[in-house]
Amino acid sequence: MSHSSPCPWLIVGAGLVGLSLAYGLARRGARVTLLDAGEGEPRAAQGNFGLVWGQGKGLGMSAYADLSLDACADWRPFAEELCARSGVDVGYRGGGGVDLCLDHAEAETRREEYAVATRARPDYAARLGVEFLDNRQLAECLPGIGGEIPLGSWSPHDGACDPLALVQALHLACLSLGVEYRPGWRASRIDALASGFEARSVEGWRARGERLLLAAGLDTARLGAPLGLGAPLSAVRGQLMVTERIALAPRLPTPQVRQTRHGGFLCGETHERVGRNLDTTPSMLTAIARDSLRIYPFLSAARVVRAWAALRVMTPDGCPVYHASARYPGAYAVSCHSGVTLASVHAGRLAGALLDDRLETDFAAFSATRFALAVTA
Ligand SMILES: Cc1cc2nc3c(=O)[nH]c(=O)nc-3n(C[C@H](O)[C@H](O)[C@H](O)COP(=O)(O)OP(=O)(O)OC[C@H]3O[C@@H](n4cnc5c(N)ncnc54)[C@H](O)[C@@H]3O)c2cc1C
Repeated sequence: MSHSSPCPWLIVGAGLVGLSLAYGLARRGARVTLLDAGEGEPRAAQGNFGLVWGQGKGLGMSAYADLSLDACADWRPFAEELCARSGVDVGYRGGGGVDLCLDHAEAETRREEYAVATRARPDYAARLGVEFLDNRQLAECLPGIGGEIPLGSWSPHDGACDPLALVQALHLACLSLGVEYRPGWRASRIDALASGFEARSVEGWRARGERLLLAAGLDTARLGAPLGLGAPLSAVRGQLMVTERIALAPRLPTPQVRQTRHGGFLCGETHERVGRNLDTTPSMLTAIARDSLRIYPFLSAARVVRAWAALRVMTPDGCPVYHASARYPGAYAVSCHSGVTLASVHAGRLAGALLDDRLETDFAAFSATRFALAVTA
């Protein structure tokens, strides 16, 4: 099996990042080939919490804070267009979300964080529109919440979707737009040619593109290093569990527990630096269950039907990397740990900037040069 015909865009990695960008480029008329290794890779796109979330994002980088709110604002039209193209409803529910503080110390820290953010950027704080809710107020938007939970921060920008439906919708939309999808295609290396780029697999397959976009999750660092796209990325494991289906009730999503549109309660999630380890552990699952029961005591009657772990693709500052190679024009790398939230801007403004080669002007703050010492050119 050999693939050698050049295509304007070669994207390596069909997780949420690669799919969103392939969709964004193709809906602007670009021809795209999308390679994906598939089974065996630690795919965050398959195991995440499904939040579309602006709160708390980018408190240390204003460009990311703004981008996250832009992404939330763009989500409804993004979901509607995606549904029209793919026939898949991604289950987006906007209208606000609540980040819970499980004890008074956490509540104090949260209030202080937003006080600092408000002093630093009053315009951003006004746009974010966070309100602090005490336990009585929480009970109005989170019926059944336990009396021990002291505080939550609510923002109107936050929401959630069905992340597996999102992957499916992007996939179908890409196919409908003529994206050439090659599953089971693991790039072992990528070479710059006199004109364009070539990916190779251990099987000896080859795929070429005039322009190259690396969106291979944690493998982006390895593949990109020889091309000056070697952003420092690390794995942060998250463990989650889901309960059996329970009667649906109107509750806002929280990053700690949320009811899916099918009725199960998604509970999580941990942040663990354990390398590329996808195990679940009894101690962490017990901690998740304990916190979930403090939040919703009625879950004590619910059976857990599944638990899993997935790996976040994390940069040193937690903010996305949108990087254009200085040495090899036409080669780019995109990595982030909020690929659900950012899918709307990835398919929108980011795809437009890539197409017009405006990454360094429109998304300058996100260049990997901010980790200058780690970028191998
Ligand atoms: C526990 C957890 C909870 C999360 N919750 C949220 C949330 O609520 N909201 C939110 O916005 N984000 C969330 N995220 C983050 C979100 O899931 C990720 O940002 C997103 O999935 C990243 O997608 P990706 O495409 O970069 O990486 P991945 O999903 O890892 O995809 C990378 C793809 O590249 C392919 N690949 C890898 N190497 C190669 C290679 N050499 N050749 C070809 N293909 C290759 C893989 O097969 C894979 O399909 C969460 C993540 C985790 C782990």
